[in-house]
Amino acid sequence: MEAKILDGKAIAATMKGEIVAEVASFKEKHGWVPGIAVVQVGADPASSRYVKQIGKSFEEAGMNFRLETRDESTTQDEIVKLVQSLNQDKAVNGIIVQMPLPKQISQDAIASAIAPGKDVDGINPINAGYLLAGAGEFFAPATPSGGMEILHRGGIEIAGKRAVIVGRSNIVGKPMAMLLLHENATVTICHSRTKDLPGVAREADIVVAAIGKARMITADYIKPGASIIDFGINVVDGKVVGDVDFDAVKEVAGAITPVPGGTGPMTNIVLMRNTLRAANKAARV
Ligand code: NDP
Repeated sequence: MEAKILDGKAIAATMKGEIVAEVASFKEKHGWVPGIAVVQVGADPASSRYVKQIGKSFEEAGMNFRLETRDESTTQDEIVKLVQSLNQDKAVNGIIVQMPLPKQISQDAIASAIAPGKDVDGINPINAGYLLAGAGEFFAPATPSGGMEILHRGGIEIAGKRAVIVGRSNIVGKPMAMLLLHENATVTICHSRTKDLPGVAREADIVVAAIGKARMITADYIKPGASIIDFGINVVDGKVVGDVDFDAVKEVAGAITPVPGGTGPMTNIVLMRNTLRAANKAARV
């Protein structure tokens, strides 16, 4: 039987509707609207496309969007000062600094400069620490949070299930592992040095791919009926494909996210939801 398609695009559209309604009632209650500031250093075309998408999503939801662009040669000190001024700015509830940054700017220094309460993509080490501890109020990175939302809204059971995550980056693989662990999955994190990856993956009820290698996860990695979350974004012959060999895997899996239209559309939605959450907190104090 063919797998159920976990339609991220449809889930994102539903969530956007919920956010639009929440923003409208927020505005009515408080007289202002939540907003995000995006810092972009340099003009990488892929980054510019992504930033444009964020702006469109926020504006469509009735939220404020501010873009701060700086030249490729800007110093770390200047970006830290910019972030600090955004931390103080009451009109800004969420802050994102587009990665990668030019080599003169340390990613860690910038991540640490973002106020944890405005760090809506969960890159500040304080948020990462809270995520690890699974305690307190924190922001988890938006991409894996979107993957979790797909599992929840797709009706995929997590507690007690075996989850195998392929990829251990700080922005996708590791936080996804923590989020699944906090929901009581039994989690295995795999990477380029894992031995017998297909064998390990075949033990999983939930397989998460966060690798960056086009169609690497083939049908022989998958236990029949397993649920597949594919974060991969790879361009092959001008076409965007995931890390999972979708056509073959959908014949074996129980549920699967397509690429495009799976995890991709969820990231902006989570950024909006997190910005709204930060604004709600700011409105309370
Ligand atoms: P990274 O390059 O930071 O990490 C890739 C991970 O995959 C590493 O842990 C690496 O292992 C592992 N890996 C690489 N090759 C293999 C292999 N042959 N076997 C097993 N593991 C392997 O990537 P990201 O986490 O940043 O991104 C992963 C994918 O997700 C990319 O396609 C990216 O474009 C996409 N992405 C999607 C987003 C979305 O909104 N949907 C947002 C962010 C990223 P090791 O650590 O040993 O090197």
